[in-house]
Amino acid sequence: MQNLPIFMNIKDRPALVVGGGTVAARKAELLLLAGANVTVIAPRVRGEMQRMIEAGRVQWREQLFGPGAVRGFRIVIAATDNEAVNRLVFEECERHAIPVNVADQPELCSFILPSIVERGPITIAVSTGGRSPILARLLKTRLETLIPSGFGVLADLLGRYRHAVKARFAELDERKHFWERMLDGSLVNLATSGRMNEAEHFLETAIQAGTPPSHGEVWLIGAGPGDPDLLTLKALRLLQQADVVVYDKLVPEAIINLARREAERIHVGKSMSNHTLPQDEINQLLVDLARQGKRVARLKGGDPFVFGRGGEEMEAVVAAGLPCLAVPGITAAAGCAASAGIPLTHRDCAQSVRFVTGHTKKDDMGLDWRALVAEGQTLVFYMGLANVERICDSLKAHGMSAEMPAAVIERGTLPDQRVFSGTLATLPNIVRSEQPRSPSLIVVGEVVNLRERLGFIHEHARAVPALFELCAA
Ligand code: SAH
Repeated sequence: MQNLPIFMNIKDRPALVVGGGTVAARKAELLLLAGANVTVIAPRVRGEMQRMIEAGRVQWREQLFGPGAVRGFRIVIAATDNEAVNRLVFEECERHAIPVNVADQPELCSFILPSIVERGPITIAVSTGGRSPILARLLKTRLETLIPSGFGVLADLLGRYRHAVKARFAELDERKHFWERMLDGSLVNLATSGRMNEAEHFLETAIQAGTPPSHGEVWLIGAGPGDPDLLTLKALRLLQQADVVVYDKLVPEAIINLARREAERIHVGKSMSNHTLPQDEINQLLVDLARQGKRVARLKGGDPFVFGRGGEEMEAVVAAGLPCLAVPGITAAAGCAASAGIPLTHRDCAQSVRFVTGHTKKDDMGLDWRALVAEGQTLVFYMGLANVERICDSLKAHGMSAEMPAAVIERGTLPDQRVFSGTLATLPNIVRSEQPRSPSLIVVGEVVNLRERLGFIHEHARAVPALFELCAA
């Protein structure tokens, strides 16, 4: 081992930073985070350091560093642009056996400052033994994506119940077993989603019963509009924990494949024209699977609560007394807007946006057309492709200009995305001749014109390396 990893308690203890520039300020900030009383020695200070001094957060000794100045400090960090001063700081500290770090000069350090990932009381330190700070930062980034931001809250919760668990289970092995099972289940998801009351109730019940409940749970996960990179980190994490994945037609295989290899996969169809499984049977399936003790990832295209019947599924699971968690996804409107270069709102022409269902058998489609033709808004029709002519005609019949820009976005965010823009007058013909496939979205409003200027971003966005590629590399 290159260095001994330790976490040092410097709360309320004197710490010294030598230097008054940006790097020194950053080091002082780090020491303050750990609760130290920070003194700065520098003949001049600037920028952030100046502000820290003015705010009384650090003490300033306005002087050059000289022999003896390190005495009384528990830890010293030097960050000056003067080689000789940096070396002197190091030598002085070595003489007084005080831990010292000189920024960017590993040979002048008796300790190094690792890259850190913080989650409340949890600190993860990464070091490459000074070989490559960039590599350490890359590792840190990967850890950041892996560890839910709510893990700090979880650690606090576990800390609060440590004694209760100790009192309940006398044997060390019993306690270990209990905690291991607790950390493999609902508790983690409840706590990291901020549902603390439920998490506490869950924990208390389990402590009383002596064992975590044996039932499973359901996660309604938004899979986004298609591009796997548009999944949220939470969706990815849960997907990788699930015992079974229940998915719709809209969810691409690349996303389903992110689940654990052993996870069971159940396709329940649900495209508009092809209900492989009726909704109440899907609801029942989710309940049955969770009752068998399984952790069920219910993957839905876009966002589960936007035209996704996520509300009905959640009601069924909750009514069965089982835990249910919803994880939002990027809805098709947001995904398609970004990848087609059509902002949904814009100060100049659209102060609001409406998401409308374009799927209905009624003559007037059951929509309030007068409200839909109001000025200054963008309309996004989901499931409207088959009704594109009726939609355009109805908008015109209720007073919207035939010249109003309108577009169809086919398979938005996917590699074979196509965008067709025209006007209310021309769009139905365009659709007839181009035959866009499902899923497609219709956008109506002045914002469609902005695509001429912004549409190029789609090509640019594709050049960004995928998170999953980074993680897998
Ligand atoms: N819950 C989903 C919507 C389900 S309704 C969401 O929040 O996005 C299904 C409709 O969504 C499709 O008929 C289509 O209009 C739209 N849609 C979903 N994904 C799409 C995509 N990648 N490109 C274009 N439209 C899409």
